[in-house]
Amino acid sequence: MMHSHKRGRSPGSSLGSSTVAVHAGEARQKPGDAITDPIFCASTYTFTDTQTVIDYIEQDQPRQEYGRYGNPGERVVEQKLAALEGGEQALLYSSGMAAIVGLLMSKLSAGDEVVFFDECYHRSREFCSKHLARFGVVTHQVRTGDFAAMESAINVRTKMLVSESPTNPHLSVIDLECFGALGKKHGVDTLIDATLATPYNIKPLEYGVDFVLHSATKYLGGHNDLLAGVIIGTNEKMESVRNLRGVMGAINSPHNMYLLSRGLKTFELRMDRHNANGQAVAEFLEGHSRVEKVYYPGLPSHPQHAIAKQTMKGFGGLVTFLIKDADWRATADVVDAAKLARIAPSLGGVESLIEQPLVMSYYQCTAEERQRYGIPDNMIRMACGIENAADLIDDLQQALEAGQ
Ligand SMILES: *Cc1c(COP(=O)(O)O)cnc(C)c1O
Repeated sequence: MMHSHKRGRSPGSSLGSSTVAVHAGEARQKPGDAITDPIFCASTYTFTDTQTVIDYIEQDQPRQEYGRYGNPGERVVEQKLAALEGGEQALLYSSGMAAIVGLLMSKLSAGDEVVFFDECYHRSREFCSKHLARFGVVTHQVRTGDFAAMESAINVRTKMLVSESPTNPHLSVIDLECFGALGKKHGVDTLIDATLATPYNIKPLEYGVDFVLHSATKYLGGHNDLLAGVIIGTNEKMESVRNLRGVMGAINSPHNMYLLSRGLKTFELRMDRHNANGQAVAEFLEGHSRVEKVYYPGLPSHPQHAIAKQTMKGFGGLVTFLIKDADWRATADVVDAAKLARIAPSLGGVESLIEQPLVMSYYQCTAEERQRYGIPDNMIRMACGIENAADLIDDLQQALEAGQ
């Protein structure tokens, strides 16, 4: 199925995504007649009598029981995120990594195999190759976007196909239709980490993908002030995942859920600005004489620009680029000369961030590993915030000139 292109509309809902982000999951009338949801600082929830406990268990009633299984504020945000993604059920975790670990641990057993595209968040790769391996789960990395290689890595033990889209930090875009279809053809679950796109820019479930995952630390929270992760899927497929979360205890505090709910109110407004800033900065960089190459799906020079245009509403705030004829130090000089963008890992918040992947995320890797992961010394990753594009461009302009 092609992307519906009903801009700003959530599937299964006649409401626009900003309306959904503001209102979905919330009761019309709330405790204290307050317009905002309360923060219930409770580790446990009381029952009036023994029969109420028995009724709750036997009828699987929708109420709270104990804080490790969830809290009321989290339920609201889960419903908001399920509505934004157009999925049946969302499940929140205390971080994006907790979500990835929680999903894979709940779906995989010793002897099972996973195939994933090799451009990915370095901690996801580390979890698969270092930790799942200890439990007898075999992981295969294949070249990003090489569906023939992915298909030939599938065998009877394969349980999950995993990819990001767009990928971090290369911004490669996956053909979601091919990805979903490959999983269906072989009866294997598919997972897209859509952190860089958000449900505003892509809707992987529409293409038959089984699980969508986001680090809500990034655009969903949006203010560089919280960590959270979320997985969206069908009620049936999410049941075992939710059960394991209750055992793992990778739960969000009520305060954290208030912050995430508050951040989501402006989700669409922020995404429009991130998309516009990413595009403007990418175009500026591509035209600059010191820039060797820009990775951004919104540029016609991007290898998957056609598929990106077809399937994405916008291309996000993350822009990766290479400095021409620069060693690692000359590249660091450009990063260090930035006055507006702060030097930090992460992305998706209101403040622009800049970093050199070699130093920030791959410093402890060998040169061969960095080459294998496609992380050259002269690479810079800029996460555009919601500042004014002209100011971001002026800052980059002076940084490129200063660092020469
Ligand atoms: C940040 C990130 C994660 C990890 O999320 P945390 O909230 O930091 O645990 C996973 N995938 C992608 C693509 C990310 O950018």
